[in-house]
Amino acid sequence: MNIQDKKVIIIGAGASGMSLAYFLYKNGVSNICVFERELLGSGSTGKCAGIVSTQLWNEIDVKLARRSMEIFEEISRKASYFKVYRKGLISITGEEKGKRYIKKISDILKGEKIKYKMYEGEEAEKIFPFLKGIRDRVILQTPDDLYCDSGMFLYTIYSYIRKEKIDIKLLREVERFKTLNREVKGLWVKGIYYPADIFIMCSGVWSIKILEEMGIKIPLLPYRSQIAVLRKKDTIDIPIIHDLDRGVYIRSEFPDKIIMGDGTETKESSLIFKENPDEEFIYGVIPEITNIVNDFENAEYLGGWAGLCAATPDRYPLIGKIPEFENLYILTGFNGFGFMRIPAIAENFAFYLTESRMEIDISSYFLERFKGKEIEKFEIREGFSFID
Ligand SMILES: Cc1cc2nc3c(=O)[nH]c(=O)nc-3n(C[C@H](O)[C@H](O)[C@H](O)COP(=O)(O)OP(=O)(O)OC[C@H]3O[C@@H](n4cnc5c(N)ncnc54)[C@H](O)[C@@H]3O)c2cc1C
Repeated sequence: MNIQDKKVIIIGAGASGMSLAYFLYKNGVSNICVFERELLGSGSTGKCAGIVSTQLWNEIDVKLARRSMEIFEEISRKASYFKVYRKGLISITGEEKGKRYIKKISDILKGEKIKYKMYEGEEAEKIFPFLKGIRDRVILQTPDDLYCDSGMFLYTIYSYIRKEKIDIKLLREVERFKTLNREVKGLWVKGIYYPADIFIMCSGVWSIKILEEMGIKIPLLPYRSQIAVLRKKDTIDIPIIHDLDRGVYIRSEFPDKIIMGDGTETKESSLIFKENPDEEFIYGVIPEITNIVNDFENAEYLGGWAGLCAATPDRYPLIGKIPEFENLYILTGFNGFGFMRIPAIAENFAFYLTESRMEIDISSYFLERFKGKEIEKFEIREGFSFID
């Protein structure tokens, strides 16, 4: 029996679960059920800034981000309320390690034939008049980078696949699996037993908990990441800005707001975490914006939030079969920059499951790379902007 004739259960309705359901369906699998313990996007995806960039530090990720951009465009054509904003991204740095990083990724962009440009000095001041203090700094611009609303992305897929009779059960937490020898037979949700042939965990960083209950450990650690929303009196039209030296990113939220984030917090968090931003973030990090862009002195702080990201030891995702079982898979470990790669990862994972092929080879992200290695604790490091 091939997978097209099998019943597939996906656990989690974040970017990975919904994208995978979409691509499995497109590849001929129609008996799919998605269980989500809360609502669409209640995990990391709903907390995400929605930035999609090709300024990444390895070729596979660059290919994945580029393909994901095409997928975001494809999904946006299904619903007028899901919009893709191709504003481009600029990374700014004045420090030597930042310049080394920019050099490294510009070489990768060149190899992958991605449009980019570097600016310095007076030219940078002329092209980006809204930026402050950039004369001694280097700017790398990728003009095709984009942002979009992660919640609307999920909702658009949800509406589409539900029409195609894919079963999505919200407010249904998977409590435990029933296993026999090396096979998962089914799972329990609110006391009801659901059997299936294939089980795929798209449960983000909470996968740690589900697997721990089965006595399985995977190298995954949760860390917090924070976001603030600021409003100005006039319209804001700027590209996505990534200040590598200050470790913050900024993007506009049309028409008069911006979203500002602090990226990776390099300390482990608990799965039960503080969902509001810290005082240090509000009073220390957010005012930094006045040193990055002009005219933000009177911007109003509207509020913010914190979400969890999933770190792995080598900052590559954790994909593929859980070795203890023949029919249990996982798709997680996106190190704070999953949204920008997940659609293409899900597409290729669906190709792998249905046709044993991949268009972008993600096999180096398979979980089996940790086979025989007991890694429980490791250092959490920057994921998106990986500076040596
Ligand atoms: C503040 C912040 C900003 C970010 N900004 C960006 C960005 O700009 N660009 C980018 O590329 N990435 C960004 N990220 C990272 C990105 O959000 C994640 O990599 C991505 O959303 C992970 O998606 P996921 O589907 O793997 O996990 P999740 O979105 O966490 O989905 C997992 C789902 O599983 C559900 N679940 C868990 N346990 C169970 C269970 N037992 N039963 C049923 N359901 C269960 C959860 O409720 C959740 O909905 C950001 C993250 C944060 C926190």
